[in-house]
Amino acid sequence: MTESIAAPLEWARKWLATPKKQYMNGQWIDGNSKEQWSVKDPSNGDLLCHFNMADSDQVEQMAQQAHQTHDEQVWAKSNRDSRAKLLRDIATLIRSNVEKLAVLESLANGKLYSESLEGDIPTCADIFDYYAGWVDKFYGETCPVEEGYLNYTTKEPVGVCGLIAPWNFPLYQASLKIAPALAMGNTVIIKPSEYTPLTAIYLMELIDQELSVPKGVINLLLTGGQAANQLTLSHHVHKISFTGSTGVGQKIVQNSGISNLKSATLELGGKSPCIFFEDTPNLDSAIDRAFDVMFSHKGEKCSEPTRFLIHESIYDYVLNALIEKANGVKCGNPFAADAQQGPQCNEMQFNKIMSYIEIGKQEAELVAGGYADTEGDNAKGFYIRPTIFSNVSPSCRIAQEEIFGPILCCTPFATTEEAVTMANDTAFGLAAGIYTSNVSRAHKVAEQIDAGMLFINRYGCYGLSSPFGGFKQSGWGKEMAIHSLSSYTKSKSVWVYYGDQ
Ligand code: NAD
Repeated sequence: MTESIAAPLEWARKWLATPKKQYMNGQWIDGNSKEQWSVKDPSNGDLLCHFNMADSDQVEQMAQQAHQTHDEQVWAKSNRDSRAKLLRDIATLIRSNVEKLAVLESLANGKLYSESLEGDIPTCADIFDYYAGWVDKFYGETCPVEEGYLNYTTKEPVGVCGLIAPWNFPLYQASLKIAPALAMGNTVIIKPSEYTPLTAIYLMELIDQELSVPKGVINLLLTGGQAANQLTLSHHVHKISFTGSTGVGQKIVQNSGISNLKSATLELGGKSPCIFFEDTPNLDSAIDRAFDVMFSHKGEKCSEPTRFLIHESIYDYVLNALIEKANGVKCGNPFAADAQQGPQCNEMQFNKIMSYIEIGKQEAELVAGGYADTEGDNAKGFYIRPTIFSNVSPSCRIAQEEIFGPILCCTPFATTEEAVTMANDTAFGLAAGIYTSNVSRAHKVAEQIDAGMLFINRYGCYGLSSPFGGFKQSGWGKEMAIHSLSSYTKSKSVWVYYGDQ
């Protein structure tokens, strides 16, 4: 552990000992569930903090209060400059507290401190800045209609938005929802994952202490899925933006249907393929890149390439390179300078991944990893070796079901048609990679693959100005860019008749 981490870690220990509460209508209040929830450190199982979750009644109360706030229209009708300023101020708060936020993220999630400090947290600040810039640039249009009529559209806030985030990129996923929702004048209820609520709590504290936000516009709900279900059922909530598993996404759609038909943006699971054709350019660096994207953040990423489809002529070469890389990874404490992979986020996830490893051993050929890393202090945490299965048939469970961990399936193919068929042969359609030197094949295959994001010759490129989201059971709608703004607004069409009466 280096000197520079010692101070924020020391600060975090003290902060964790302070009470953690719900934030509703500008007040910090205790969760009213009898259930005390413990947030644990996945590197050793130690308690980080505990708090009382909100129960369903309290969720409904928060939704009702948020609805009242929205009806008062203070934020919805606020001056656009002041809205943009708030977003920029939040970006500045994040940047000035980047180390503290990064420490909290890595403590609860288990991802490497460098991943939080250099990636996730600074990107959150960028997201707020990006959407601050959009506040006065997203507006309605004048529509070409018949002579004697004027028709224009306006963009109105949707209302109360329930923003439900997962545990893999906690503050990043929350920021991707909060920033555009606030930019468009909505009232928000942020629901971080119960496993990783720390950064959302701390950011809420900073906003409460340092910025002036109209009361009730930003609310923080600390609870688990059972009570959060009420958020998706409540008639006081007008929109849900959800990132998480496909199963919960389906439940949200059902709940919307039996309540007030609230709209939903859903970013769900994935089982993304990466195809390596025989003419992959710069094969060694292609392997390095795809391996890194697959195994960074301990394989807990929705759009990672979990299925490598490799042309039979280069299969052995690629597989051997992957095995060598996997065997060389050092699992260790997220704050250790030499660690390359942290622990899985929680015990449930650890057990799920380990059970898929057992399934994989029955279905395919295990060629790397396949066991928990219990080296030294790792014995107390949820560490799993980077694991590779070879000759995985596309119908195997490990090739079909989302595992969400450091488990890679490799499968050889002979023809382009075979590769495309296998690439499309899952219920998911989040992302896909194509490595080839043949430009026309690259474009043709990109067209044939039924996924929301295609990466040609470099897997895993993302930018705020490009839509993010999947097809099939990977989700509904897109996030980022103008797409988030659309999803947090309603278009109203206004007709004016100015012809002869
Ligand atoms: P999860 O679905 O278990 O939980 C996500 C969030 O939903 C948590 O905050 C949880 O408390 C809440 N929740 C659970 N049940 C609920 C209910 N009935 N009503 C309302 N809220 C409920 O997912 P997770 O385990 O936190 O995250 C992993 C999953 O997220 C994976 O499937 C992964 O692919 C997906 N994910 C998708 C994307 C994407 O952009 N497509 C990004 C990150 C993660």
